Amino acid sequence: MPLPHDEEPHVRLLLGAYVLGGLTAGEERQASGHLQVCDACRTEYLELVEVQGLLSLITEADLLDGFDETPSEIDGRGGSV
Ligand SMILES: [Zn+2]
Repeated sequence: MPLPHDEEPHVRLLLGAYVLGGLTAGEERQASGHLQVCDACRTEYLELVEVQGLLSLITEADLLDGFDETPSEIDGRGGSV
């Protein structure tokens, strides 16, 4: 079953959501199918996976820890979200 050709041939716009698992079933099939035949998109996909893996290692605490100059009023609010 050929893919519709009214869409762009590459799936770069889908890759970000694909890495995050946010595509529809049809989009995901399109992306995965394209990755098997396109080195350029596969390379980009692997980079996104790597970045995603790195981002997942960063916790909110790590981010906040980077702000030594955090205004004290934030602490005063009682951090319950
Ligand atoms: Zn491609």
